[in-house]
Amino acid sequence: MTDIQFSIIISSIIAGIATIIGTIFIFANEKIAKNNSVYLISFAAGIMLATSFLHLIPESLEISEKVPFFVLLGFLIFYLIQNYLITIHPCSDEHCAVHNLSTMSFIGLAVHSLLDGIAIGIGFEVSSTIGIFTAIAVILHELPEGLITTSILLHANLQRKRIWIYSLIVALATPFGAITSLFFVKNLQPHILGNALAITAGSFIYLASADLIPEIHRSKRKINSAILIFGIIFIFLLGKLFH
Ligand SMILES: [Zn+2]
Repeated sequence: MTDIQFSIIISSIIAGIATIIGTIFIFANEKIAKNNSVYLISFAAGIMLATSFLHLIPESLEISEKVPFFVLLGFLIFYLIQNYLITIHPCSDEHCAVHNLSTMSFIGLAVHSLLDGIAIGIGFEVSSTIGIFTAIAVILHELPEGLITTSILLHANLQRKRIWIYSLIVALATPFGAITSLFFVKNLQPHILGNALAITAGSFIYLASADLIPEIHRSKRKINSAILIFGIIFIFLLGKLFH
């Protein structure tokens, strides 16, 4: 196994574990977990935006000419997944917590996590630096995602055992996607890899702005804006460190 393959597998497993930790937190103390998750959500939103705009997009521009189109496509793909497959949405508000929970929602969450895993594979295939940034962005948003999803499933009156099974499958989808990517990203031509990276950037922009930031607005705590900006600065400085 090469170092790159090892990094892909390890970081996707960490992302899967992050989802499970989210579930554990909710089961341990839902109130505390929900009250504090917004800090992590703010940080993750900043990380995802900065990773997309400062690293993924500039890097894809170097190997592909159709970057703007593919960023838009990535945004659209995730919009469709989150909007049509996942009928449950991240929402800490009790009133909107109970949506009709269908098998489709669960499939949507699993597909989302699968694509997160493939994104890690694509990132590391472009370069180890891009891989690390992609992995950080995936890992950090998986935890709040696991937390929010579990909380919604709990309010939809699903049995704990069932929630655990759902959470485990969604968590496993990330390493599964990453391992699958090992088989095909190697053979991709550079410009196609660039387009795939641009799709990842678009998906991160969607998740940050349409899934995470609305949560921040809802919490109405001023500190969250500072945390989001801190997330951006953190990625900016990390980029300086790597170059
Ligand atoms: Zn995700």
